[in-house]
Amino acid sequence: MSVIEAPSIVDLKQQLADCLRMLEKCDVIDYNGHCSTRIADDRILINIGSCQRTLATVDDICTIDMEGNLIEGRAKPPLEFHLHTGIYRARADVRAIVHAHPRWSTFLTMVGQPYLPVYAQGSIIYPVPLLDNVNSINNIAIADRLAATLGTGSAALMKSHGAVTVGRDIVEAFVLAVYMEENAMRQHMALQIGKPYEFSPGECKAAKEKLWTESLFQRTWDHYRAKLGDAGMHAPQPVAATISS
Ligand SMILES: [Zn+2]
Repeated sequence: MSVIEAPSIVDLKQQLADCLRMLEKCDVIDYNGHCSTRIADDRILINIGSCQRTLATVDDICTIDMEGNLIEGRAKPPLEFHLHTGIYRARADVRAIVHAHPRWSTFLTMVGQPYLPVYAQGSIIYPVPLLDNVNSINNIAIADRLAATLGTGSAALMKSHGAVTVGRDIVEAFVLAVYMEENAMRQHMALQIGKPYEFSPGECKAAKEKLWTESLFQRTWDHYRAKLGDAGMHAPQPVAATISS
């Protein structure tokens, strides 16, 4: 029987750095945006706020505690670290988080247009709740509101601000972020020429059963990972994190 070992801390940092670069490459983030992985009850890895997302490396990932104190790393986390710690506090099952300010998803929130499931991959996170507040998630109170808005789901939107996705590992959180933005773009474009077809609850359920698999998520990650064009560099297999808390 083969044994899949949990990724090391350096592997997890590399995944986060890759995740940032992939998100930037596919226009989900720009010079802002952050992603994190929980490595213990009171420790998370997160990119530093000041890093250049296009060139992110393991040196751009720091370790903080749940109060945002820097435990290890060369610079501070983003001011919105509260978004991450708030969700981790509320959700023991969440091991990774992506926060972005993506255009298409945010357009929907600007005009009160609810996120609709208009293509299969985008339907697996439906429904996507909305935090009806435009402020940054930079304090405990607003972070708790966001966590409550997210509930037990995997994605949420923030009015005229951005999006958050969560997962069992960074592969999952990344893939859901990409799916959500693609769905929002398709919904927006379809609205220009008519009323987009909305997947029924049964179609959403069927899509989730078919598409929510580790192998398909891995394939999506690998698709975007290959676009970085540096396959020869250190590239750990992003296996599901099994670090005990
Ligand atoms: Zn933000």
